[in-house]
Amino acid sequence: MTEKVVIIGSGPAGWSAAIYASRANLEPLLFEGTLHPEMIPLGQLAFTTEVENYAGFPAGNVRAFVESAVAKERHYNLPPAPADHTKDGQPHYAVQGVELMELMKQQALNFGTRVIGEDVVDVHLDGRPFRVVTNENREVEAHAIIVATGARANYLGLSSEDAYKNRGVSACAVCDGALPRFRNKPLVVVGGGDSAVEEATYLAKYASTVYLVHRRDELRASKIMQERALNTPKIKMVWNHVVHEVLGNDKDGVTAVRVNSTVDDSHQELEASGMFLAIGHTPNTGFLKGKLEMNDKGYIRWTQPFRTVTSVEGVFSAGDVSDDYYRQAITSAGTGCMAALDAERWLAAQGVE
Ligand code: NAP
Repeated sequence: MTEKVVIIGSGPAGWSAAIYASRANLEPLLFEGTLHPEMIPLGQLAFTTEVENYAGFPAGNVRAFVESAVAKERHYNLPPAPADHTKDGQPHYAVQGVELMELMKQQALNFGTRVIGEDVVDVHLDGRPFRVVTNENREVEAHAIIVATGARANYLGLSSEDAYKNRGVSACAVCDGALPRFRNKPLVVVGGGDSAVEEATYLAKYASTVYLVHRRDELRASKIMQERALNTPKIKMVWNHVVHEVLGNDKDGVTAVRVNSTVDDSHQELEASGMFLAIGHTPNTGFLKGKLEMNDKGYIRWTQPFRTVTSVEGVFSAGDVSDDYYRQAITSAGTGCMAALDAERWLAAQGVE
C-alpha cells in the first residue's frame, strides 16, 4: 500500500501538518523519531520548561486542561506542574513544552494520524512513489512527504567538551540542570541569544553562581530576556570570552572552564561543575544530503516564496528544518499547516485523494 502522505518529525510543524492532513482525509503516517542526546520525540520544545509566547496559552490551571485532553496512558510523560506557581490554591503557569506537544499529538491522534516511533534514516526521491526507510529497516511508499525534522543543539567541537559530555557538559539546562552534580555549584553557560539567557536564568535557581560566557560585549537575546538575566544577582556576565578548554577529572567530571579573551591575550579559569551550551542549532537534514536543495547551513530551501515546496515535486518541508530565521514554535506550527495544505492540493492535482 502507498501512503498518501508521510510526515517525518514530531515537533509543532509535524503535528500541525498531521492535524490538517488528517482532517483532509489524507490518513497521514507520522514518524516520531527516537530519543538521542540532542534530538527527542516531540522536538526541541520537549527540552524546555514554560512556553510563555505560544498564542492561546496564557498562564492558568494548564494542568487540569492537559490531563483532561491527553490520553491517560501518556500522563506519565507529563512533567510535574511547577511547584512554586500557584494562584488561589490552583496550579498557575504557562504551558510547558512537553504539555504543549502532547496536546498537539493528541489532537492529531484524535483525527486519525498514525504514529510510528522510529527514525527515518533514508529516503528515495528519484522516482514516485517515494520510499522512506527507517532505523528498523521498515520501508514505506508515499505519494507525498512532509519533512519536519527540526534542528538540534550545537556544540563547540572541543575534544575536552566531548570528553565530559554527560559528566558536566550539556546542551540542555532544562533536562540536566536539576541534577545533584549541579546543585549549589558554580556553572558556566555559553552563548548570548535567548537560549543562553533562558538557560542561565533557569540554572540560577539551582546553582551558586552562573557565569554567562559570551564572545561579544552585547547580548543577542531579546530585551525582556536580557533584563531578567542581568537583574538576576547569581548571573555573572563574562563578556568578550570564548571557551578554550573544559577541565576536570574522572571522579568529579567538570571542575573548571578555561576561557580566553577575544580582545587581548588574557585568559581565566572559571571554577564550575558544569558547562551548558546555548550556541544555536543545526538542521536535521543529514539523511537528505544531495536529495533536496539546501542553503549553505543545511536548511531545506523552499523553491517558491510563501510555499512549502522543495526542489523535489511532492516533497514539502515545514518548521525549523527550513527556517534559520524565526525558529519559533508558533511559526513552525504555521508552516506545518501550510505544508499540509500544499500537499493536499498537490495530491488532488495528481488525482490522489
Ligand atoms: P541564536 O539566537 O542563534 O544565538 C546563538 C548565540 O550563540 C549567539 O549569541 C552567538 O554569538 C553564540 N554563538 C554561536 N556560535 C558560537 C560559538 N562557536 N562560540 C561562542 N558563541 C557562539 O540561538 P538561540 O539563542 O538558540 O535562539 C534561537 C531562536 O530561538 C531565536 O529566534 C530565539 O529568539 C528563539 N528562542 C526564544 C526563546 C524564548 O522566547 N523564550 C528561548 C530560546 C530561544 P553572536 O551573538 O556573537 O552571534
